[in-house]
Amino acid sequence: MHFLRLGEPGVEIPAVSDGTTTWDLRPLTADIDGPFLAADGLARAEAAAAAGELPELDPTGLRIGAPIARPQAVICIGMNYAAHARESGSEPPSDIVVFYKHPNTVVGPYDDILLPPGSTTTDWEVELAAVIGTRARYLDSPEEALAHVAGFAVANDVSEREYQLQRSLGQWSKGKSFETFNPLGPWLVPTAQVGDGSGLSIRSRVNGERRQESSTSDLIFGVAEIVHRLSRFMVLEPGDLINTGTPEGVGLSGRFPYLAAGDIVELGIEGMGEHRSVVRPAS
Ligand code: MN
Repeated sequence: MHFLRLGEPGVEIPAVSDGTTTWDLRPLTADIDGPFLAADGLARAEAAAAAGELPELDPTGLRIGAPIARPQAVICIGMNYAAHARESGSEPPSDIVVFYKHPNTVVGPYDDILLPPGSTTTDWEVELAAVIGTRARYLDSPEEALAHVAGFAVANDVSEREYQLQRSLGQWSKGKSFETFNPLGPWLVPTAQVGDGSGLSIRSRVNGERRQESSTSDLIFGVAEIVHRLSRFMVLEPGDLINTGTPEGVGLSGRFPYLAAGDIVELGIEGMGEHRSVVRPAS
C-alpha cells in the first residue's frame, strides 16, 4: 500500500491506497505528519484498511498534494552521484554534503513550478526522498538507520543556479528555497516495501525529452549511510524530509537548456510514481 494526501493545499485529506481502492485515514489521524509516523501510523493504517475499518474515498477529481504534512526540516544531500558531481565541476565528496531548503518549498507532484522573477537558470533534480519516522540522534551505525525511516517518495530539488552558485557566497540555500521548489509525491511508500532504497531506476524528462536516467544504486552514500551520518550532526525528527541527491543530466551540465515558462517536467522513480509539473512565471 502507499500513502497520499488528496485535496486543495492546506486542507488535504490523508489517505491510503492499494492501487485500486483508496481509504480515508481521518478516523485514525488528521494528517500524515510526524506524530502519526512516530506512533507507527503507517502500519496501523494498513492494518485498519485491510480489516475494513476505514471508509472508502473516491479520489476522482481531487488534487494530489505532497504525501506528508509540511515537514519541520528539508535536509538535502549534494553531489551524491559521482557523474553528477563531475558534471557540476566537482570531485565526488569524501563525506555527505548537507544543505537546507525552506520547508514551505514542498508542494504536490502535479503543482506548477514557479520561476522566480528574472530567473534564466532554474534547473530540475529528480531525487529519492526519505521521510524520518522516529527520532534519530547519534546513531552508532548505518545498520540502525533504516528503522528510523518511515518511507520514501519522489522529490524534485528544483534549483536556481545563479542564486545557488554565483550569488550564494558559498552556501547554496539561496538558490534552493524559492516557492514551489520541492515538488514531492505522489506517494509515501513505506520502508517495509522499499527496503534500503537501492536498485531503483530514477529518471527525468523535460517536454518529453530524456534528461536524467540512472539508478539509486549509484548513490555514493546510500539512505542508511546518510541517516547515520546526519544523526551525528543533528537530531532527525519524525516527518523530516531528506532529499538524497540527484544523478547526472541536469541543466547545469551545459548539455540542456534551463527551464522556461511552459516547459513540462516529468520525473519518477521505479515503483514510486511520477511527477508532472508545468513551469510558469511567478506572478
Ligand atoms: Mn539536489
